[in-house]
Amino acid sequence: MSLLEGKTAVITGSSGGIGRGIARTFADHGASVVVADISEEPREGGTPTHELLQEEGAESMYVECDVSDYDDCVAAVEAADEFGGIDVMVNNAGIVGPQDPLVDIDLEDYRNLISINLDGVVHGSKAAALAMLEQGVHGSIVNMSSVAGITGFGGITPYSAAKGGVRSFTYALASELGPDGIRVNAVHPGIIETTMTTEDSPFVGTEQEEKMLPTIPLRRVGQPEDVAGVVTFLASDLASYVTAESVIVDGGQLNTQ
Ligand code: NAP
Repeated sequence: MSLLEGKTAVITGSSGGIGRGIARTFADHGASVVVADISEEPREGGTPTHELLQEEGAESMYVECDVSDYDDCVAAVEAADEFGGIDVMVNNAGIVGPQDPLVDIDLEDYRNLISINLDGVVHGSKAAALAMLEQGVHGSIVNMSSVAGITGFGGITPYSAAKGGVRSFTYALASELGPDGIRVNAVHPGIIETTMTTEDSPFVGTEQEEKMLPTIPLRRVGQPEDVAGVVTFLASDLASYVTAESVIVDGGQLNTQ
């Protein structure tokens, strides 16, 4: 079923990881995709996302975009005009940032994390909302939070702060944009296997993962496709009466602790 036929999406941080999974699933469902990322090459290796999508028959392009820069987000949204204008914005780009107790953290590292993980979502949302309002599009904005945006994880306090901010921001923006038919939702992944969890904050493939698996009802860590399915639903008309919602994608872990 082509849930996104005729729709154009801008996905930040979609050169690799979860964003790349979302881009592939969106394209499978008929969407044209603007890959907006700070780098074109996937860190995990392989063909750049936009080329992969083109090879598979979808319309796609890459736009260099640092989400901490509002003008870059505006340019990424404008690039969607090439494919008929933006219908869906996925604010996915993020980093794990400092992984020390707050008392040991350099505040510059904290500010950098916030500029990407929280400001980046605000920038992308504002740029997309302005374009959707101008075009009169009943669009969908999906913001990437985390289970760390629901419960506090010591050791990554700046990350938790940003992701909690994304959750509340999503609800507030849904309230503002609902009357114009624009839906805004958040997604909260648990542990998903990407370079974030294999390299930046090594967990997947370590002893820690083995210890954690019994606490996950579905007994496995997630894959980018697991998150992509939920984002595709929220982006599509199947979710036409869903806004100001946040969906946990963690194999059931958080709600069974
Ligand atoms: P990832 O594999 O590191 O992919 C993130 C992508 O975003 C990369 O392509 C990265 O480029 C890009 N990026 C980094 N900084 C950027 C910036 N300033 N502007 C634009 N793009 C930027 O991470 P992921 O695991 O897919 O994470 C995607 C989102 O899911 C993040 O918001 C993350 O917080 C969230 N999340 C992940 C997990 C998990 O377990 N993996 C769990 C919960 C939530 P480079 O590779 O060149 O840096």
